[in-house]
Amino acid sequence: MMIPNWLMKRADLTPDRMALSFEGEQWTFRQLKEEAVEIARKLRKNGLMEGERISLLGPSTPDMVFIIHGCLLAGLEIVMLNSKLSTREIAWQLDDCKASTVIVADEFLSRVENLKTNVLTFSTLKSSGQQDLSITAMWDPSRTMTIMYTSGTTGHPKGVRQTVGNHTSSALSSVLNLGLNEADIWLCTMPLFHISGFSILARSVIYGMGVRLYEKFDTLAVTDEVRNGTVTRISVVATGLQRLLDELEKSDTIAHASLRTVLAGGGPVPDEYLRRAEKYNLPVLQTYGMTETSSQTATLSSEDALRKSGSTGKPLFFNQIKIREEEKPGDLGEVLIAGPHVTPGYIGYAADKNPLENGWLPTGDIGYIDEDGYLFIVDRRSDLIISGGENIYPAEIENVLLSCPNVLEAGVCGQDHPEWGSVPIAFIVKDGEISESELETYCREQLAGYKVPKAFHFVEQLPRNASNKLLRRELKEWMKRK
Ligand code: ATP
Ligand code: MG
Repeated sequence: MMIPNWLMKRADLTPDRMALSFEGEQWTFRQLKEEAVEIARKLRKNGLMEGERISLLGPSTPDMVFIIHGCLLAGLEIVMLNSKLSTREIAWQLDDCKASTVIVADEFLSRVENLKTNVLTFSTLKSSGQQDLSITAMWDPSRTMTIMYTSGTTGHPKGVRQTVGNHTSSALSSVLNLGLNEADIWLCTMPLFHISGFSILARSVIYGMGVRLYEKFDTLAVTDEVRNGTVTRISVVATGLQRLLDELEKSDTIAHASLRTVLAGGGPVPDEYLRRAEKYNLPVLQTYGMTETSSQTATLSSEDALRKSGSTGKPLFFNQIKIREEEKPGDLGEVLIAGPHVTPGYIGYAADKNPLENGWLPTGDIGYIDEDGYLFIVDRRSDLIISGGENIYPAEIENVLLSCPNVLEAGVCGQDHPEWGSVPIAFIVKDGEISESELETYCREQLAGYKVPKAFHFVEQLPRNASNKLLRRELKEWMKRK
């Protein structure tokens, strides 16, 4: 099935609806189209041709949104660069993806200078002349639209191809689960270069839904939006949710009734946050997805949010999930995914790696499906600790530690042990007084003995990557140096 050019179709259907709002300004879909068409013409004038691969490095601002849509109208493949990456990491990704040009926001120019890739700044692009181009009304679903690098949590980041069909089916699956209301406005504080942010832009033009954009997660501003009912949906990662909860607690206010979804993904959400969210009227829905699946694969529905707390729900309408070698519900194993949202493959150094095994995407995540068909993600397969023949999942221990007073962050990894093979060790960032023995007592009350960390190290901060994900492989390196 050919897919309509998202923005052209949307601007034709509902030209006067609000598409984008940022600080005090807003744009309708007609205006968004006009901005994007102008950018597309300027891209052509700069010699960028249909099918060409470019990379994009910019902040989450309206200009970035116009340029993303402009690139899509011009038929370019966009490699999204994470602005939190170091200059060295950016250089590596630019080399790996072989983009002809990097389009860069002026404030990030120093990050891409002196590299082989041709540079085009936002200001040069905007002040360019224009060249006519023909904009196709229909898109081939197999066309690669974006390329995003995985977060590099378990190893080297891989460049993932995301097609028109991947993004479109993902947006459709999402709305079949969450529903759509004419008044819906999705608050976007997630980076646009990441699938969590980009997928909000995709949903916006496919559904005709407004986006309230923020350059960063501004806790006070986000809390106000949530409290005042000026947005109806919001995507968060665990740290954002925690900051929002802290602020609501501090001011002793609750979220407005028109807030319908707090979509929480990217990593595990501690149970503690889910309990607190309930008190403050935050309808948190856990979602499970990855770069290779262009956003959500499974999401809990609001009906099930309380009944199945901790679950990431059922696979969305077009998707399938199964557990490798599962014999009965509840068996733990690697999560396998199939569906039209699954990438056709990687680029660059990982191009030869087939993402599928017998038609299924192995995720590297361990989980189980309960007797009612709900998915629970347990942990990353690569972080599993096997201690005296028992499987230990660091996330379970981290969850317990996070519920302990005065613990701000916790990271657990395995350390080699002559008798048990491996034992869990914890790294703690505290935000108050707590001792090693208090932590041990706390863990003993809630965990089987073999899961209680054999040591607790207090640190200033935990190692995280540019997606703010905990790097347990770094913790292991720290152990070796101790
Ligand atoms: P790399 O593949 O390079 O190691 P990554 O897997 O962290 O990095 P992403 O694609 O950004 O890169 O993240 C997807 C991963 O995030 C999933 O495979 C899973 O491990 C984790 N994740 C996403 N949602 C959840 C969730 N709700 N609960 C637990 N883990 C989650
Ligand atoms: Mg991954």
